[in-house]
Amino acid sequence: MNRVHNFCAGPCTLPESVVAELADELPDFGDSGMSLIEMSHRDPVYDEVHHETMTLLRELCSVPDDFSILLLQGGASLQFAMVPMNLLGDGRSGTAGYVVSGSWGKKAIADAELVGGTYAAWTGADEGFRRMPTRDELTIEDNTRYLHVTSNETIGGIRLPDFYNLDVRQVADMSSDYLTRPIPWDRFDVVYGGAQKNLGPAGLAVTFVHRSVLEATPGRLPAYLRFDTHADNNSLANTPPVFAIWATGKVLRWIKQNGGVDGMQQRAAERSTMVYDAIDDSGGFYRSPVDAASRSHTNIVFRLPTEELEAKFLSEAETNQLMNLKGHRSVGGIRASIYNALPTTSVTALTGFMATFVAENG
Ligand code: PMP
Repeated sequence: MNRVHNFCAGPCTLPESVVAELADELPDFGDSGMSLIEMSHRDPVYDEVHHETMTLLRELCSVPDDFSILLLQGGASLQFAMVPMNLLGDGRSGTAGYVVSGSWGKKAIADAELVGGTYAAWTGADEGFRRMPTRDELTIEDNTRYLHVTSNETIGGIRLPDFYNLDVRQVADMSSDYLTRPIPWDRFDVVYGGAQKNLGPAGLAVTFVHRSVLEATPGRLPAYLRFDTHADNNSLANTPPVFAIWATGKVLRWIKQNGGVDGMQQRAAERSTMVYDAIDDSGGFYRSPVDAASRSHTNIVFRLPTEELEAKFLSEAETNQLMNLKGHRSVGGIRASIYNALPTTSVTALTGFMATFVAENG
C-alpha cells in the first residue's frame, strides 16, 4: 500500500502497524466469530480491550489514583460545556478565568459563559494570537474556581511553553498536544482532549477528572453530562465508542514501545525543530507568524511571500505526496501537523521539499 505523507490536523496519521493490525483483526475478533464493532460492550472480550486502554492511559500519563479517566463521546467540544457544567454550574460560587489564546480558547470560554461567571484572564486577540502569555500577564480574579488553558492552539500553532504554577486549580484542553509532555497533576482539576490527533481515531474524548470535582458534582445535571456518571461506571454507563477505544489502545501500545511520553516529547521537539530550521534558514522566504517562545511542537504554521506562492506550494506538495498542508480556513497559509504517529520520514520529506521549493521560487 502506498502511504502518503499526511500532515492533517485531525483526524491524523496513525501508526501504519496499528492500521494494519486493525484491518487484520477486525473481521473475527479473538476467534469470537464477529468483529469487535459488532459485539456487546458488556462482553468480557470487549471488557479486556476497554481495560487495556484505560490501564495504558494511566500508566503512560502517570495518572495519580485520585484522578478518574473518562472515555467520552462528543469530542473536546462537548468538554467545553461539561467542564463549566460540572465545576461552575447550578448556582455554585466562583467564576472561571480563561486564557483566550486562539480559536479553541475562544470556543471554550463561549460555552462556559452560558453556564456560569467567566472572565478572560488574558487575551491574545489584539496581537492576532501570536503567543501564549507569561504567568505575570495573567489577571486572576478573587474567587476564581479554575483557570482554563489551551496548552496548544491547533490553528494558530502556538504552545504554552510550560504549564503555569498558580494558586488556583487549572483545567487544560490538551487536544493537540496530548502525550507529548508530562502533566503536572497537582495543578489540575480536569485535563481533556479529543483522541483524533495524538491518540487514535475520532469519536473518543479522554478526560481526566480529580476526585474532588466528582464529589462536588451539581445536583441538577443530565446524566450523560455529569462527570461522576462516567467515573462511577468505568466509562460504561452507556455504549462507549468501542472502535475508537480499541484503536486508541493500540496507538498507546505503540507509544509505549516508542519511549512513552518522554519519547514523544523528545520526538516532537526534534521534529518541529527540523521544520522551524527550514523556515528560519530560508532567508525570509518562509515566515513563521508565531513568537519564538510559543512555537508549537505539533502544529507548525508558516507563510510564503504571496498567496499565489502558497497555492503553488500546496499544489506541488501534493504532487510529492505531501498532503493536508493547507492552513486552517480561518487563517490561511500553510500548517504542518506533526503528531505522535507521523513518521519522521514524512518530516524529512517536507523539509526536503521546502528547500527545493525555495531554491526554485525564492
Ligand atoms: N480543542 C482543540 C485544541 C482542538 O484542536 C480541537 C479540534 N481541532 C478541539 C478542541 C475540538 O475538538 P473536537 O473536534 O474533538 O470536538
